[in-house]
Amino acid sequence: MTEHYDADVAIIGYGPTGLIAALTLARHGVSAVAFEQHRDIYPRARAVTVNDWTMRIFQSLGVDEPVLKQIDPQRALRWVRYDGTEIFRVEHPPSTLGVKPRFYNIYQPTMEATLRDCATGYETLLNVHYGVEVVRLEQDDTGVTVISRDLATGATRSTRARYALGCDGGSSTVRSQIGVQLLGDTLDVLWIVIDCRVKRWWPDRNLLTFWSDKERPVVDIALSGANHRWELPLKPGESEADFATREQVWPLLKAMGVSEDDVEIHQYAFYRHHTRMAETWRKGRIFLAGDAAHLMPPWAGAGMQTGMRDAYDIGWKLAGVLQGRFDERFLDTYEAERRPNAAFYTELAVQLGRIIKQELSEEEQAALNAPPPDPANPPEPPLIAPPVLAAGWLRGPLNETSIVGRMVPQPIVGDCRGAMARLDELLGKDFVLLGDDVDPATLLSPQEKAGWDTLGARYVAVRPQNKYTHGPAELVDLDEVIGPWLRKYGVRAVAVRPDKFVAAADVSGLAVPA
Ligand SMILES: Cc1cc2nc3c(=O)[nH]c(=O)nc-3n(C[C@H](O)[C@H](O)[C@H](O)COP(=O)(O)OP(=O)(O)OC[C@H]3O[C@@H](n4cnc5c(N)ncnc54)[C@H](O)[C@@H]3O)c2cc1C
Repeated sequence: MTEHYDADVAIIGYGPTGLIAALTLARHGVSAVAFEQHRDIYPRARAVTVNDWTMRIFQSLGVDEPVLKQIDPQRALRWVRYDGTEIFRVEHPPSTLGVKPRFYNIYQPTMEATLRDCATGYETLLNVHYGVEVVRLEQDDTGVTVISRDLATGATRSTRARYALGCDGGSSTVRSQIGVQLLGDTLDVLWIVIDCRVKRWWPDRNLLTFWSDKERPVVDIALSGANHRWELPLKPGESEADFATREQVWPLLKAMGVSEDDVEIHQYAFYRHHTRMAETWRKGRIFLAGDAAHLMPPWAGAGMQTGMRDAYDIGWKLAGVLQGRFDERFLDTYEAERRPNAAFYTELAVQLGRIIKQELSEEEQAALNAPPPDPANPPEPPLIAPPVLAAGWLRGPLNETSIVGRMVPQPIVGDCRGAMARLDELLGKDFVLLGDDVDPATLLSPQEKAGWDTLGARYVAVRPQNKYTHGPAELVDLDEVIGPWLRKYGVRAVAVRPDKFVAAADVSGLAVPA
């Protein structure tokens, strides 16, 4: 007898990570059931930014346009001292990922509401239970049983799925259920996060400013929807009780020249920074993602985004396994790829925090301000550099000169009938091999081709715009980006994964990675 499943995947927690997991699975035609203990979206505006990588994920999920309507472009980042000295500035150059600009300011509750709205379009594939808390998980060789409790009625329910995703935040029930520890540290310092409604514009409001100071560093950032955020640490001797009312909070803002004419305090909260990572992100058929798997300080603006990228990654991989295209072992690449990326952003956040807290040594400060060795070609700071995979389902060297592990730029391209679109719209959501003015299939051995055929790959020649196209498996490089990019790394063809990272290139072997 065939076993009954209520859905292919159970998603526990429907915050940003759970939402992107649901959207990714549904986009790939996989059914999911999600459980969220709260009926309403968490009202505090925690995450403040998204970048071009996250926007490209939104694009692939078909949600970028509604999201774009409620987020604002970010101008630049600057680190300044109270005396007005600028310590460091990061300008945002144009994105290569087909998203303009590179960074946006958001308002997390509005973004989550928009994503939830988008997900309601998948009513036959996605079932969301609000006001339902997951209390227990049991797994065996064929699936996971999720025991949940309706918080209004107390009724319990048992739901059977093939896999489960713990997207249930920092104090994850799923993580404790599978006996995984969250290793790392929580800092002692308590921060106050003040969210305000803006009443009038002030000079440079749209510069993300880090007021750097040993005693009272401040994050000062415009959020979308006419909101503004300040985050400040409490000084030794201060406690939450000292800021019990808005009247007690106002002096903190007034010290920075902000008055009742500029803003109204909407809400404020206190929190501590964590630098923590789950010891493992997978136990059998259960995976952890987002804050359930890692917690980082906010300085790189990457906590929520890292969770969304986890969810997207495990989403397309689970879809491939459930649809019989990938071997089950492929799911191990989830942690192998996402863990180093989460660790990278955690360390970056820690280091950026040292600038704002004025903890840099004189040598470090000098190195930060030193002119680049090649001023005509300055390296991009890691915070804004295009994404790179440091490990995982890749074939070939991972280094400065290798194209493997890099994300394909996203120019405007034309199809053979003359229609123009952003690259990803024409590449679709599966594997594609791209050749520089050559059919990439002609560069493959029969075995290599058979390997990519099994994965459902397409073979596309990218033509320069001064040539004719001859068939549907061709694209025209209208912005002249893809051809020069391939040549910069000395390759003629690359294999591109569904998440638009290069899995393999002809110079290091185009066989399907092991
Ligand atoms: C002050 C601050 C500033 C930040 N700034 C940024 C930033 O600029 N950029 C950025 O990317 N990130 C930022 N973050 C981090 C970001 O907000 C989080 O990383 C993000 O919200 C995590 O998303 P998540 O879905 O993994 O977890 P959560 O948002 O915590 O969502 C988990 C969900 O699971 C539900 N849940 C939990 N347990 C259960 C259960 N047993 N049953 C059912 N449901 C359950 C919860 O109700 C919740 O809705 C910031 C965080 C803070 C605190």
